[in-house]
Amino acid sequence: MPSSTDLSGRIALVTGASRGIGYFLAKGLAAAGAHVIAVARTVGGLEELDDEIKALGGQATLVPLDLTDMAGIDRLGGAIHERWGKLDVLVANAGILGVISPIGHVEAKTFEKVMAINVTATWRLIRSVDPLLRASDAGRAIVMSSGAAHSARAFWSPYAASKAAVEALARSWADETRNMPLRVNAVNPGATRTAMRAQAMPGEDPNTLPHPQEVAEKILPLASPSLTETGLIYDVRLGRFTHYRMPD
Ligand code: NDP
Repeated sequence: MPSSTDLSGRIALVTGASRGIGYFLAKGLAAAGAHVIAVARTVGGLEELDDEIKALGGQATLVPLDLTDMAGIDRLGGAIHERWGKLDVLVANAGILGVISPIGHVEAKTFEKVMAINVTATWRLIRSVDPLLRASDAGRAIVMSSGAAHSARAFWSPYAASKAAVEALARSWADETRNMPLRVNAVNPGATRTAMRAQAMPGEDPNTLPHPQEVAEKILPLASPSLTETGLIYDVRLGRFTHYRMPD
């Protein structure tokens, strides 16, 4: 993993930038010199981020967008193409938990929403920006996953299925681009003090968990032009890449 991350003059797109891990990733990318394209629905959160980035002397473009608006994701790719002709960093971070519930009690609309935001929108975003990342001299894609993709614990089925799916998307994409400068990796941030975690584990003391800023700082080097790894999972808790293997 690169030890420093200089992103001066680079263009970085972050989804879910209005709060949580995405907010601090966007701030960290801007602090490292990137122009950040910050996507989420909550304008207040995006504006707060913009204020913080400006205070650091950085630059951001705010994109209030609901990621279930698939045509909107296509338009976003088109707008980046028109303005910059390339994208250097993609952070596909936005996600929802859905519900913690026995599999048979999950409502269809909840399951479909988890899949729409966590999986379909991530694929649509990849499709929209893949040519732009290929146009970069060192495109970097960070796809936010979760340990749930592998632990598949009781009651986490929609979320676990969605994260297993995004990892598969990231792996296929990495394999397709292995011989290009583009590097694509999934990330398992580990339990982090955010709204999503509080929804999943309401009885937990949030102060026992790492702050999203601390977690974001550890993910940031994956955006570095000097990164070599692709098609792997970066495990924040372990502080290293882990490899996929077939089940025994
Ligand atoms: P938060 O709930 O704090 O933030 C989620 C972000 O996603 C928000 O910025 C939200 O913005 C955005 N988002 C949700 N739905 C939409 C939508 N329809 N359109 C656009 N943006 C949307 O989550 P975390 O920071 O905890 O999670 C970030 C990522 O990390 C997720 O992919 C999550 O699965 C993963 N993760 C988190 C862990 C944790 O313990 N926190 C552990 C493992 C993985 P807005 O509501 O403004 O649209």
